[in-house]
Amino acid sequence: MAADFCHINTELERVSGADLLHIDVMDGSYVPNISFGPPVIAAVRRCSQLPLDIHLMVQNPERHLATFAAFKPEFLTVHYEATVHLQRTLSKIRELGIKAGVALNPHTPLDGLKYVLSDLDLILIMTVNPGYGGQEFIPAMYDKIRECRDMVGDLPIELQVDGGVGLANAAELAEAGVTNFVAGTAIFQADNPNCYMDEMRACWRKG
Ligand code: ZN
Repeated sequence: MAADFCHINTELERVSGADLLHIDVMDGSYVPNISFGPPVIAAVRRCSQLPLDIHLMVQNPERHLATFAAFKPEFLTVHYEATVHLQRTLSKIRELGIKAGVALNPHTPLDGLKYVLSDLDLILIMTVNPGYGGQEFIPAMYDKIRECRDMVGDLPIELQVDGGVGLANAAELAEAGVTNFVAGTAIFQADNPNCYMDEMRACWRKG
């Protein structure tokens, strides 16, 4: 979302050192904004070899899993509120051979995940309300991240944050238990995005 779409190829080269390419799909229904869909992801796939991390901000994502699984992303993440039968949706993602993620909005409690932890590979704690890039991080999310870390324990589940993330808060987030940072604006606005990501990784190692 934070890349300049007029120059997507060059933009993807600028972030070639990323571990994952996070793709925000917005449907204008579950979230107010519309971003892009499969044709743009197909173009991205042709321009970059980076593993994809597809974040579906889409109502009833279960209808579209096969479409997005076809891009063979590393992770496919759906929103807790967007699917009626979360456990079934997560199982279906795994059946498609993709790691399954669930995203929680800032107000969404953690409790609902307690009984689906064994169906999960990633928990995405939204640190802004989903729908737009460039928003400010919500500080109350630190407590939520710590509680989530405790809930997950030793299970092999990535703890991801998305929204208002950058060098300014990376160390504190790492200390709270984050294992996977999504940063858009901060990285694409950096003079050297790859150096910026290295600095963020250094914060994580310290955390
Ligand atoms: Zn996202």
